Amino acid sequence: MAEKRAVKVAIVGAGMSGLCMAAKLQDAGIDTFTIFEQADEVGGTWRDNTYPGLTCDVPSRYYSYSFRPNPQWSRVMSAGPEIQAYFQQVATERNIRPHIRFGTEVISAVYRDGRWSVRTASGEDAFDVLITATGVLRVPRYPDIPGLDMFAGPIFHSARWDHSVPLSDKRIGLIGTGSTGVQITAALGGNVRGLKIFQRTAQWVLPAPNVRYSRLTKAALQRWPVMNKVGYRVWQAYVERATLGRATVEPCWQRRVLSALCRWNLRLSVRNPDMRRKLTPSYEAMCKRQIIAGRYYRAIQKPGVDLVTEAIDHVEPTGVVTSDGVLHELDVLVLATGFDSHAYMRPMQIVGENGVTLEKAWRDGPRAYRSVALPGFPNLFMLMGPHSPVGNQSLVIIAESQADYALWWIDKIRGGHVVAAAPTETATKLYNDEMKAAMPQTIWVTGCNSWYLGKDGLPELFPWRPVRHRELLSTPEPTDFEVRAG
Ligand code: NAP
Repeated sequence: MAEKRAVKVAIVGAGMSGLCMAAKLQDAGIDTFTIFEQADEVGGTWRDNTYPGLTCDVPSRYYSYSFRPNPQWSRVMSAGPEIQAYFQQVATERNIRPHIRFGTEVISAVYRDGRWSVRTASGEDAFDVLITATGVLRVPRYPDIPGLDMFAGPIFHSARWDHSVPLSDKRIGLIGTGSTGVQITAALGGNVRGLKIFQRTAQWVLPAPNVRYSRLTKAALQRWPVMNKVGYRVWQAYVERATLGRATVEPCWQRRVLSALCRWNLRLSVRNPDMRRKLTPSYEAMCKRQIIAGRYYRAIQKPGVDLVTEAIDHVEPTGVVTSDGVLHELDVLVLATGFDSHAYMRPMQIVGENGVTLEKAWRDGPRAYRSVALPGFPNLFMLMGPHSPVGNQSLVIIAESQADYALWWIDKIRGGHVVAAAPTETATKLYNDEMKAAMPQTIWVTGCNSWYLGKDGLPELFPWRPVRHRELLSTPEPTDFEVRAG
């Protein structure tokens, strides 16, 4: 048998995707990998987001690695700290931590002499393969509101929560009613002196009772692991086939049912017609990232909670002034204003073959071959790259199939059959054209504004059913690649 060569792999990011890649490499017998992590702990989004009410709205049994089920999830949809503990535990028990260079930000990665030269503040090192696992929603987006920096009280983004600020006796202003703002409202509404929610655009809300798993259920899942596997498949089928996985990408009965559910939820939960009018969106359900929340409407109707729908004009030291001239006096201002979803691995600089920068390659907007690879950037694989199927599903299963895809090529490099591989321009263009042609049938283009949309007004999401993404990645087409053989 031919001897396998050692392949040096650089992974950028020790969040859910980076840890997934590391585990897959270990399982393939490859331990020559380094993870660069700018923070001092693993977990990515689950480390950075610690706001009150943080919960994953994707069922935990399915929002877990398929290779590492967790019988101990406390609820159908777990709270943030529990999810963070899960990823920390995986990093520890798989002995991934010794591979991580914490507190080390990758400044640039340059493809030079057939290898990736990865530069950090402490120097430069060369790798055969570069994996970017930098997450989807990592860079907080701060709103451009006049006077924001004049506010006299504490002010922070939802992903940079300041836990040193006591809240119960404060009048809090919350800007933003996306998935984050809704969860913060559910947690703070009625539990602080005052909560003013500044809503620019109303959202449709799907109800979701978040059932607690009994001790008996957890013990049974622990005892019979097959039950975990069944649970995973059941929730996967529920999300991918029975609900959002299909409803978002094609006209179907699921779309009609979920739309009706959102309308009923609003009608039955909010009896005051004026309040209901304010909360009624002017676009179709699921066009924006669908909100899934069982307690939002209840919280917003609690004493001390105000929904403000007049546009924000500016901020003054004592509060927020809306376009009707009203000054809303506040002690604390929370910005649940989302993230730069088009940043991907930036601000890290990536330079491919012949000095072509990522900025240049993406001058018409981020694109990729099957969401993972890029022409002119050999041996670069992106986890959660452009047009990954990231809307309302488990990102874990997406990371797994993308990591498997990267591993397929890494194995070819290790076997000595391949030195470098990058998708061809033609195959990438064909794939992207096909995707663009499929966009009109998705719900995301039906007339709303959302972080899904790119510069060209089209969603940077995968426009087909989730299973198709897995199929595309499970059958690599080497003829779509320019391959330099060993
Ligand atoms: P988001 O969905 O982008 O929502 C940002 C909110 O801020 C929107 O309501 C937006 O209004 C508002 N906003 C932004 N700039 C504003 C301004 N200048 N003035 C007034 N309002 C402004 O961000 P997010 O809520 O943080 O959620 C981001 C994504 O994170 C979600 O879509 C989801 O994918 C993920 N997430 C997931 C979970 C989970 O449970 N799995 C939980 C939280 C977040 P417009 O709607 O008018 O733009």
